[in-house]
Amino acid sequence: MTLPADPAQPALWRASVVTLFPQMFPGPLGLSLAGDALRREVWSLSTQDLREHGLGRHRAVDDTPAGGGPGMVLRADVLAAAIDGASGPDDPRPRLLLSPRGRPLTQARVRDLAAGPGVLLVCGRFEGVDERVIEGRGLEEVSIGDYILSGGELAALVLLDACIRLLPGVMGKDESGTEESFESGLLEYPHYTRPRDWEGRGIPEVLTGGNHKAIAAWRREQSLRLTKARRPDLLDPA
Ligand code: SAH
Repeated sequence: MTLPADPAQPALWRASVVTLFPQMFPGPLGLSLAGDALRREVWSLSTQDLREHGLGRHRAVDDTPAGGGPGMVLRADVLAAAIDGASGPDDPRPRLLLSPRGRPLTQARVRDLAAGPGVLLVCGRFEGVDERVIEGRGLEEVSIGDYILSGGELAALVLLDACIRLLPGVMGKDESGTEESFESGLLEYPHYTRPRDWEGRGIPEVLTGGNHKAIAAWRREQSLRLTKARRPDLLDPA
């Protein structure tokens, strides 16, 4: 019998990470809001050390690329063994390979992932991973931007951070998740706080006047102005 989900007790969001550097986790996610939520068991983290699945006396995880060329490639057999150690065939979590070739991560995707059961993340190293393991283990490639990192670990931390802050009970105020850049398809408006005068610069008058309608209109206008200037692609998606 399956019990109906108890909304007061949301299911644990589970993250598993396959990596050559498990010491990098939780890293910064052990601090602040994410760290606090980890200790409160809002989410869980397990790492699968690639080296433990390495071959031979040196526990080799990589080899030279077929066809030649620079660098090394993570072996399909080693990587698959580590993935299988982290997740079984019935695991409902999406399996993501951090990869500059992947579909760029967006706030919409982050929301989707945060609403699901968790993620299995595979971190590449060196030149990348043997192509066959991507297909053989159903990995979806995800990129965090058009630049090259030396490994997938920092990208995994970025993805996890973006998801964890959206889990129920992680952020102080519920609405601070929905007013942000990208959530409305626009960049966020400028913020101000005390002091009212700083180095001769004031705060836009509308924000101190208490007219909430006028404030909302000003913010919307500023959001539009910034988005037009900095990210016109958001207004006119191809
Ligand atoms: N030779 C590869 C880059 C390898 S970088 C290429 O040209 O596409 C080594 C590893 O770092 C990758 O396997 C991936 O896991 C990670 N990585 C690098 N840049 C990334 C990015 N922008 N987004 C996500 N992961 C990235």
